[in-house]
Amino acid sequence: MEIETKCLHEGYKPGNGEPLALPIYQSTTYTYDSTEHIGKLFDLTAPGHMYSRISNPTGAYVEEKLAALEGGVGCLLTTSGQAASFMSLFNILSAGDSFIAASKIYGGTVNLFAVTMKRMGIECIFIDEDDDEETLQKAFKPNTKAVFAETLANPALSVCDIEKLARVAHKNGVPLIIDNTFPTPIFCRPIEWGADIVVHSTTKYIDGHAIQVGGAIIDSGNFDWGNGNYPSLTEPDESYHGLRYTESFGRAAYITKARVQLTRDLGVYPPAQAAFYTDLGLQTLPVRMQRHAENAMRVAEFLNAHPSVHYVNYPGLKTDRYYELAMKYLPKGQSGVMSFSIKGGREGAVRFMDRLQLANNVVHVADVRTCVLHPASATHRQLTSEQLAAAGIDEALIRLSVGLENVDDIIADLAAAF
Ligand SMILES: *Cc1c(COP(=O)(O)O)cnc(C)c1O
Repeated sequence: MEIETKCLHEGYKPGNGEPLALPIYQSTTYTYDSTEHIGKLFDLTAPGHMYSRISNPTGAYVEEKLAALEGGVGCLLTTSGQAASFMSLFNILSAGDSFIAASKIYGGTVNLFAVTMKRMGIECIFIDEDDDEETLQKAFKPNTKAVFAETLANPALSVCDIEKLARVAHKNGVPLIIDNTFPTPIFCRPIEWGADIVVHSTTKYIDGHAIQVGGAIIDSGNFDWGNGNYPSLTEPDESYHGLRYTESFGRAAYITKARVQLTRDLGVYPPAQAAFYTDLGLQTLPVRMQRHAENAMRVAEFLNAHPSVHYVNYPGLKTDRYYELAMKYLPKGQSGVMSFSIKGGREGAVRFMDRLQLANNVVHVADVRTCVLHPASATHRQLTSEQLAAAGIDEALIRLSVGLENVDDIIADLAAAF
């Protein structure tokens, strides 16, 4: 099946007389005929749902679909993108370990990595992912256990060279984890380029309608966890009578552990209703992504030619520094998000934003409606002018998430505000 078909037909496959729409299994618990069977569930030797903190049939169908879309052996849904990013790493790292992360990533992820995970004794080494392999190699320490980056960074809109990062990570015996939130599997499937684990904030384009926060982790099944670096996967887990994940679950060792150990203990599994909304978004994702990208391209060209605009960051523009990488990794579209700097500085940006009629001024991106955000007044408000400059954020920068309205209306709104 092609990806458009998979978005509709992977996962839940109704049988004769069954509901066509994915049912919402509103149950915390599951009933079995024998105590022996329940014992097997707890030993992880029989398949089945135990308790909805760990899995749920509605969620399981959505997981099957997402695994198929990204080309992985398994998927785990989480209550948010933040939970997915955290668990993707904490599944294989412990106090005393370090990992490498691209500098151009989502601000919430930076807080998680640099502040909260540091309190757990896990060090994040930030790198410039645009550096060459030799420079990147120097960042590795003997205790480095993973590399993390975003395909299309939020809000920098830089495109990551996934093949390069995968080569460096694998040379050091560690997996590459890619946050594929902005492109979605419609525009990029990082596993095909060598990524080992993919994470998503499904809150963005996958949901797309600003109704459900959620996340997902997809396991390629390709990484060799038996290389000596990952004892938590190869050594006995005392909470399951000494079971070894690699031995019992083979290629699905990582994603199984993330569910039966971490999700069990941290309690970050989404409710059935949330999984249902995520699935609803997935069904129309290919159509929406194509239109987002088409509208964004038109808007980027309009902004690029406008005399009140300093510069536009959108990797679909031929003049963009990431255009070549975009043509390699995102040839079918570069999503609907861009940023641009307006002449007139910080005040000019605020005045422009307040004059927009159609675009929503929100702390959100990747929505069916066009949204704008002024990072210097919102997400990066605490920073001084000097800190903003160091973080590469221009005070006159506006992030624009192009929606599915008629593109002429979007452009007319922008033109009127200018
Ligand atoms: C929003 C976002 C996250 C965090 O996801 P939540 O669902 O808000 O927790 C992670 N990565 C990227 C790229 C994002 O845009």
